[in-house]
Amino acid sequence: MKYLNENKTEQSTWESDLKIIDKIKVIVPLKILLVCNSIVAKLDGEEFSIVTNIQSKTSDTITLSDDYYIPKQKVTAGSIDYLPDQYSHSVVIHRHPDNLNNFSRTDNDFINQNFELRLLYTEKDYFVNGVYNLKYEEAIIPIPVKPVIDYGIEEIDIANIEPIIYSTRVDTLAGRNETKGLNDIDDFLYSYEELFNEINELNSRLEFLENELQQNRLSEVVI
Ligand SMILES: [Zn+2]
Repeated sequence: MKYLNENKTEQSTWESDLKIIDKIKVIVPLKILLVCNSIVAKLDGEEFSIVTNIQSKTSDTITLSDDYYIPKQKVTAGSIDYLPDQYSHSVVIHRHPDNLNNFSRTDNDFINQNFELRLLYTEKDYFVNGVYNLKYEEAIIPIPVKPVIDYGIEEIDIANIEPIIYSTRVDTLAGRNETKGLNDIDDFLYSYEELFNEINELNSRLEFLENELQQNRLSEVVI
């Protein structure tokens, strides 16, 4: 007989081998982002959609192809009218105005029927939302996705670049007796007391500026 273990130190066999997926990661090639940015720049705030395909897929990650197509569409700042056109892509990327990070009902009506995966793009935050339609028997199970842009630069090795670190002015002063000749010191004849006072003064100016900033921020919130 089996008992549930509250500490979950034991798992049933089928649980231990399976991943639990609450979001599917979608890797978007940089080119697709640049295409979206470029279309935004050519338009005047209108919505639009482009389509692409799934290049590869694992149980928790989908990688998009960087081939794309721009379907025929009539657009306004708040709507898209998809015109009759020939394409068979499985992914749609839909542009919304900044901060409108959810699909509208009309988006869902068209997109749900025609695409396996949909992403939402805004000019400000790029890929902000997405849904993958997992097919299960006769049904579709929508799963939220986490879009990630593949900038293609994760593995830059900078071992050959060696930054030269200059010592700060205070360090130079502290070590002046060992490193500098007598004539060189003349330029740096500060006493520690002078330095101490100078730093204190800088500190209080910084505090003043921080207070000022904070108050400005607060008064903006009140307005
Ligand atoms: Zn929309």
